[in-house]
Amino acid sequence: MLESHYHTVIIGAGPAGLMAGVEAFNPKHSIVILEKMHKTGIKLRISGKGRCNITNEEDMQSFLNRFGKKGRFLKYAFSQFFNHDLLNYLNEMGVPTKLERGGRYFPQSDRATDIVEAFEKKLRELKVPIAMKAHVTGLSRNNEGHFVLMVKQGAHETQLLADQVCITCGGLGYPATGSTGEGYSMAQTFGHTIVDTAPSLVPVLTAGDIAKRAQGLSLRNISVSIWNDNKKETEMFGEMMFTRKGLTGPIILTLSETLVAMLDSQKKVHIKIDLKPALDHKKLDQRLLRELSENSKQNFRRLLKSLLPIKLIDLFVDLLEIDPEKKLHQITGEERKRLRMLLKEFPMDVIGHDSYDHAIVTSGGVSLKEIDPTTMESKLVPRLYFAGEVIDVNGETGGYNLTSSWSTGFLAGRSMRNHDLEV
Ligand SMILES: Cc1cc2nc3c(=O)[nH]c(=O)nc-3n(C[C@H](O)[C@H](O)[C@H](O)COP(=O)(O)OP(=O)(O)OC[C@H]3O[C@@H](n4cnc5c(N)ncnc54)[C@H](O)[C@@H]3O)c2cc1C
Repeated sequence: MLESHYHTVIIGAGPAGLMAGVEAFNPKHSIVILEKMHKTGIKLRISGKGRCNITNEEDMQSFLNRFGKKGRFLKYAFSQFFNHDLLNYLNEMGVPTKLERGGRYFPQSDRATDIVEAFEKKLRELKVPIAMKAHVTGLSRNNEGHFVLMVKQGAHETQLLADQVCITCGGLGYPATGSTGEGYSMAQTFGHTIVDTAPSLVPVLTAGDIAKRAQGLSLRNISVSIWNDNKKETEMFGEMMFTRKGLTGPIILTLSETLVAMLDSQKKVHIKIDLKPALDHKKLDQRLLRELSENSKQNFRRLLKSLLPIKLIDLFVDLLEIDPEKKLHQITGEERKRLRMLLKEFPMDVIGHDSYDHAIVTSGGVSLKEIDPTTMESKLVPRLYFAGEVIDVNGETGGYNLTSSWSTGFLAGRSMRNHDLEV
């Protein structure tokens, strides 16, 4: 049962809202977290394929760089609460963690749900209630300076007053988890600017049937470059995967922000996959020559087997138009060159990207210019706070986005706690 007036209201029980709830706790203040879904942290529960990549081991500067230029905004929040603070925090809440490849931390149990449950337990201990299925449908301010929230719970609509409010409604990605961008319209009603939003960390769609034929294949230690006609925009080394309709995996997701921006500005986008980045053209040619002379009686398919994962062999045969039964001593210089080029510059045309339904994060959001980075308070509306993905900051994959939500949630919570107001 909701009260009619709270000191502090947090809208959204994702990682940012849960953290803000714990940190805003002040025995003198009444507080509530309002969550429209039937469960808290639905997105958090499915994060990292249900394992939750909590944070990353990187040092502060490298970490900030993962958010591009906007990373600067997070510097103060991270100075207050960063990766190891988070790990200690979770440990104290009974969630031990482990370090994996790429500096990524996960719960030792491999269960994202353990984190959500630990926050729920902590909030119960602090007697900070979470109102479930409590959908905030309107937020305004009355003449006395109180925030007025319209909250729909089933068929009932209630009006609440609050002295301070934190918006932690997330972005637009995976809307089935509850993140449907309502935080943006709430911010807009107070005059906040919303920087154009777009799906980010999103799989891309490619032309033809190449992806479909290689579907499920994961390539490690390869390099992907993005091209606009003959101009190379950027390049990244790492791991990617073929899907039924295109490409995904860590480097594709990271490059997707650039790809989406290029597609949105009607640019022609193609990518080239370098399957042998450790060898330049000259060294690769020497290797091919060696293979051809040392195994001259074997056939072309056998050579491809020594160079490629099984799923790419038939594709290479078709794209190169070389008879797979042809003996290696019959392979011409021109055919060898075609093979080398395909190994170094495997081409794919990017024709689109998946929708918000498959976007790990949303780029854009509440303008950073209008939020105080040392408190997370709105510069336009006193005692209105923001934390998490609703803010115009988004990072690469690797635990960076959750850290941003937790650190900004921590800072917003602490700032609200320190507003020593009596209701
Ligand atoms: C599939 C997937 C995997 C991911 N894996 C990782 C990972 O391993 N590591 C990582 O760092 N990041 C990961 N992310 C990104 C990360 O989960 C998000 O950046 C993070 O959850 C954002 O936290 P948030 O609290 O700001 O928002 P959200 O988690 O989106 O939570 C917002 C909450 O607000 C509620 N809400 C919205 N509107 C209202 C309203 N009007 N009234 C009441 N409640 C409302 C929603 O129901 C939701 O519970 C992943 C994302 C996805 C989709």
